[in-house]
Amino acid sequence: EWVNFVVFFDRIIDRLEMAKNSNVTFKRQLPKHAIFVEIDEDKMTQVLYNIISNAIKYSPEGGQVSFSIKEEEEKIIVSISDEGMGIPKENIGKIFDRFYRVDKARTRKLGGTGLGLAIAKEMVNAHGGAIWATSVEGKGTVISFSLPYERFEEDEWS
Ligand code: ATP
Ligand code: MG
Repeated sequence: EWVNFVVFFDRIIDRLEMAKNSNVTFKRQLPKHAIFVEIDEDKMTQVLYNIISNAIKYSPEGGQVSFSIKEEEEKIIVSISDEGMGIPKENIGKIFDRFYRVDKARTRKLGGTGLGLAIAKEMVNAHGGAIWATSVEGKGTVISFSLPYERFEEDEWS
């Protein structure tokens, strides 16, 4: 169905902000205008939940998680950034693989199965988008994904 992605994203951030029990702070950098995209709301909720719950889980006390949406010609790019432990360069290509977890010793106490990002990738691909990560070890991680988007000019509506 067609949804205003700005409102949809904002609501999911609200829900996770209320549910989180760590003192990570949230910062939203969202457009003021509507951006309509065609998505499966349940699947996209899962994508955002998996990415944002990682950002919270792998953040230090008091870390900041930032949310942004960027509009390009034929797609939007949604990014979730954190100030957490980061991911070593040599491991970053594998984090979207099923059951892959970076350095078991490092993340063992945080729990998880290593499926969250594999599922997110599958669902983003099913929407015709791509997902990727950039990270600096010890500084933080940015997970971004694209979604196809058709920008309508004002006069196409009139
Ligand atoms: P699950 O999501 O299934 O509970 P998980 O969080 O370990 O378990 P994924 O979400 O698929 O699995 O992430 C895979 C691995 O990528 C994680 O184990 C972690 O090592 C690394 N990772 C993912 N997101 C981040 C992040 N924001 N910061 C640092 N490392 C991350
Ligand atoms: Mg996860």
